[in-house]
Amino acid sequence: MFGPILSKAITAGANKTGSWRTGEKPKFLQKDCIACKMCVLICPEACVTGEAKNTYICDYEFCKGCGNCAAICPKKDIVMVKEEDK
Ligand code: SF4
Ligand code: SF4
Repeated sequence: MFGPILSKAITAGANKTGSWRTGEKPKFLQKDCIACKMCVLICPEACVTGEAKNTYICDYEFCKGCGNCAAICPKKDIVMVKEEDK
């Protein structure tokens, strides 16, 4: 779909990854967020954005469902859900 597999790091701005995300995606509950930005820092696709408490969200066009953001969130304000759940 994207041509040959590249060995170099793929960044969010270069390639959409959402199309090959498998199984799960993060759901940002936007309830207990303290705006620590850990989810922004940990995301390998740099697709999490947010400015203030309870505004954090990811771009599903680029998210690959790795679960890092949900794992690191100190407030458990991100949960992984099945892909079909909206
Ligand atoms: S699951 Fe979270 S950390 Fe992983 S790519 Fe998606 S938004 Fe980024
Ligand atoms: S890691 Fe959790 S608490 Fe911190 S900014 Fe992200 S959603 Fe908010």
